Amino acid sequence: MSKWLNDLTNLHVRELKPYESARRLFSAGDATSNSAGNNSSQQIWLNANESPQADQYTVNSSAFNRYPDCQPLEVINAYAKYAGVNNKQLVATRGADEGIELIIRAYCAPGSSSVLICPPTYGMYAISAQTFNVGVHKAPLNPDFSLDIDAIAEHVGKVNVVFLCSPNNPTGTRIKQSDVLKVLELFSDKALVVLDEAYIEFDIDAQQTALLKRFSNLIILRTLSKAFALAGIRCGFVLSSQAICTTLMKVIAPYPVPAPVAQVAAQALNENGILTMRKRVEDLQTSLQSIFQTLHSYTDITVCGDTKANFLLFKSEHNPALMQYLVQQGVIIRDQSKQLNLQNCLRITVGSPVENDKLLGLIDTFFQQHSTSSVRNAS
Ligand SMILES: *Cc1c(COP(=O)(O)O)cnc(C)c1O
Repeated sequence: MSKWLNDLTNLHVRELKPYESARRLFSAGDATSNSAGNNSSQQIWLNANESPQADQYTVNSSAFNRYPDCQPLEVINAYAKYAGVNNKQLVATRGADEGIELIIRAYCAPGSSSVLICPPTYGMYAISAQTFNVGVHKAPLNPDFSLDIDAIAEHVGKVNVVFLCSPNNPTGTRIKQSDVLKVLELFSDKALVVLDEAYIEFDIDAQQTALLKRFSNLIILRTLSKAFALAGIRCGFVLSSQAICTTLMKVIAPYPVPAPVAQVAAQALNENGILTMRKRVEDLQTSLQSIFQTLHSYTDITVCGDTKANFLLFKSEHNPALMQYLVQQGVIIRDQSKQLNLQNCLRITVGSPVENDKLLGLIDTFFQQHSTSSVRNAS
């Protein structure tokens, strides 16, 4: 890059690395997939917690010459009904990721404010903060991946926003309600507590929307990307008080929800769409339990965390080699070993039954070649 252009680039941006999204790491035609001799259509994508199947939708283009509604009422009303909140208490966004960004832009001052994260967790909280030159404080999870409330308490008065994630990505663990309450109380009148419920459909008993009435500092994030199988349309929701929603609407783009997105989202949220989603969640949960049992039977594998979402995290000293082997065989999973306390950990998304069988077959072949010990005895 020429010097003047480098000098012109904001100091905090110069130091940033682009987010290594699951897609960017293994985009079609990159070096890895070419060297493996696979093209992306033959590959099995188990790296982004996406749904293995897509549903069918119809799109009506008759008004595509017009700008869309900023907040399409049909979508807002349908999601409010689905989530059990008032329709003045939510904002539709370009995925939950935009929700994270809006909260930081509205409530953090570049160069002086900070947010708190509890790693290992979803990467975008820190990345969004860094993009806006906002500090990132950390209160790492306990070894069992529960919140370290004492560590969190040390940040009271020092951060504007606290990010929690339940079920947490990539550990698949639920935050107990008593811990959510403790954090809300610790930061009451001091900071916002964002509870990311991107995977809540897989752990629906743990949803905390009822707390929105009690805590004016609570924000809940939701998305259509995971259980609703719509990662490609980019649609998410921020649920919070009316006051917070009004503030977020000041910093949102003029037309955040494109008309085709609104049409598809409305269909996904009708009675039939919700039934389809629930059926898919049940099927994926059944598959997840069966993958869990299979992985657990290997002495070389330790399944980490929990099974509250649509993915599994596991550890093995052979994981760097296993990851390489799976990629060569066209099965793309997610390496989590760079995350805090997740050395040698890989994350797999539950796929279709055929994809899961392929994955487990490859893992079996791999450990037949690499394992020093045998399969754990069934007990
Ligand atoms: C996938 C994911 C998101 C992002 O969802 P989008 O709506 O696709 O932006 C947010 N939070 C967590 C924890 C996720 O895993």
